[in-house]
Amino acid sequence: MSEAIDISALVRKNILEMKPYSSARDEYSGSASVYLDANENPFNTPLNRYPDPGQQTLKRKIGFLKGQKMENIFLGNGSDEGIDILFRVLCEPGRDNVITVDPSYGMYGVCAEINGVERRSILLKSNFSLDPDAVLEAVDEHTKLIFLCSPNNPTSNSLDREAMLKIIDGVSCMVVVDEAYIDFSKGAGLLPILDEKKNLVVLQTLSKAWGLAGIRLGMLFAHPELIAYLSAVKYPYNINSLSIEAAMEGLMETGQQRDWIREILDERDRMIKELESLDIVRMVHPSDANFLLIQVDNPSEVYQFLLNKGIIVRDRSRVPLCEGSLRITIGSKEENRALISALKTKQS
Ligand SMILES: *Cc1c(COP(=O)(O)O)cnc(C)c1O
Repeated sequence: MSEAIDISALVRKNILEMKPYSSARDEYSGSASVYLDANENPFNTPLNRYPDPGQQTLKRKIGFLKGQKMENIFLGNGSDEGIDILFRVLCEPGRDNVITVDPSYGMYGVCAEINGVERRSILLKSNFSLDPDAVLEAVDEHTKLIFLCSPNNPTSNSLDREAMLKIIDGVSCMVVVDEAYIDFSKGAGLLPILDEKKNLVVLQTLSKAWGLAGIRLGMLFAHPELIAYLSAVKYPYNINSLSIEAAMEGLMETGQQRDWIREILDERDRMIKELESLDIVRMVHPSDANFLLIQVDNPSEVYQFLLNKGIIVRDRSRVPLCEGSLRITIGSKEENRALISALKTKQS
């Protein structure tokens, strides 16, 4: 169905008709020697200058690393900005709907509520696999977005590629595949086929494998036509100079990133064995990410016990399909060791 996708037909009427704010740096983006166009302070260089609203340098770098053209990239204040701006550009409050496949990342639902958009929740199967037909059945002519998260948070598994493709090829709305954890995954994800799927949106982030959650830098990859609408709606200077600089520096360190990932994955495999050997752990779900979902007998009690020892994990036991479960991030060797020793004292 990819060829039949009409992106402008999915965009809200007010967005189609709006005239974007034009900043001083939008109107002149070349390089001059005297800048008297933006009412900046001439002192305190370099932070006295507004950042590039088009983030050209950073997009070039990310495009090179990811094998994508700059026109396919939107950068946001975390992936969360990408998620919210999709709602604001595509979903008419009170009329349109989105579909989430749960349990999954909470921001999809929060953004739906904030934007006054109906959310249709489809459950994963009990083994956490995706049921594409159940998703397709929930789609109607007002469905604008379908959110798939792979590897999925909090279940830690990747969704089946063919099942995701069945959904993408079976609808005329946008399908967002959140790949926040893709660098920890065995699979390559869907970014390599972005050019073939006009209704595919891929979200990635510098918050996890790149170790840069503090700078808030999310990457959204999509068809250039959608990127143009998102760019017209975003705050002009949504990525600040310090974040751009830290991202440029961080992205140079590809060797270090590989080492971190390898170390985290080694620790994850070691932690799976350690956790499985504890009596209070009923099961550790297979993980394709940098965290584990484990089942214990008394999740709230274990959570509180760890908290009293200064160790914070995530209690997911009230989430559908995750009854009895805690979500545990893979930390440093020392942090992981502290968790295991604490759990051992709980056991005895
Ligand atoms: C952590 C996470 C993100 C990252 O969000 P940022 O706003 O980029 O920090 C996105 N999606 C999922 C599913 C996550 O777990």
